[in-house]
Parts: sequence; structure tokens; C-alpha cells
Amino acid sequence: MSASDAARLLDAADFAAHKHQAQRRKDPEGTPYINHPIGVARILAQEAGVTDITVLQAALLHDTVEDTDTSPAELEERFGAEVRRVVEEVSDDKALPRAQRQRLRLERAARCSPAARLVTLADKLHNLRDLHRCTPPGWSEERVRDYFRWASEVAAALRGTHAALEEELRRLIEARGL
Ligand code: ZN
Repeated sequence: MSASDAARLLDAADFAAHKHQAQRRKDPEGTPYINHPIGVARILAQEAGVTDITVLQAALLHDTVEDTDTSPAELEERFGAEVRRVVEEVSDDKALPRAQRQRLRLERAARCSPAARLVTLADKLHNLRDLHRCTPPGWSEERVRDYFRWASEVAAALRGTHAALEEELRRLIEARGL
């Protein structure tokens, strides 16, 4: 990795950390939200062997447009058009009801770029590992199962993207008895 690649990654991590500063994950410990995008990027780098800095930057930034005040134009200005495009591909419109967002995401999944498909798979894997570890307060067993079911539909739509990530997702989904 060149010095500039390291600098670009750290810049994305720093930007995401500021944007997600006040947010917490849904787990009982209230883990800082930034643990999630960092975990997604780590899965891609270490478990999937991804070395493409654009993909790793997009992983670090993947929830900034959907969950913070970040605009796509802001991402483009700081990280370039390619990172912006990948983040936009994996962002849902929060104004829509959850069921409709999930349906749209499934329809779009198969048409996504390889970079967006990788980020989506790693995102689902990180979320499933969290849910497998512990149930968020207020979540029924049925809601957890629904999320696993939804993740398995996304994985099916993205089949052929990355064998090891897909296998790991399948293992977790099967552990839920799905
Ligand atoms: Zn995410």
C-alpha cells in the first residue's frame, strides 16, 4: 500500500467518524456507530482480500449518505466521483417505508457495480454477526429472523460476487435455522 492509499483510507475513516459521531449501534452496549463501517471495511480487506482503495473507502463511507447529513456531492468533492457512485448505489431513501426500501434494494442489487455488490455483502455479514451475537433491545425474535431472511434474499440476488463472503453469510443464516 502506498502512503497515499493509507492517507485516503484514513481520510475516509476520519470523515465517517465525524459524521457518525453522535450515533450508536442497536446492540445493548450501544457500541459507537463507526465500529460498523470500520468492521465492514475490515471484512473486505482481510476476509475478502479486497485491495481496491475505492471499494475500501466506499465501505468506510457506506452509511454516511443514508444515515447522516452527508450529501453525495460532498463525498465526490472529497473522495472523487467513483467513491460517490458506489456509496449512492448502496444507499436507500430513508423517506420510504422499510418494506418498500427492502424491495427496491433487492431489485437494484443485481444491477449494482461489482464494488457496490462487495460492500453490500460485507455490510450484511457484519450486521448478521452483530445480530447473531446479541439481540438489540426491543427487537422480537421474529424481527431478527426477518432480518436474516432479508439478508438471505440479498445474498441470493448477489450470488457469484464473492465465494468466501457468500459462504460465511450462508453459514450464519443456516445457524438461525433458515
Ligand atoms: Zn451498513
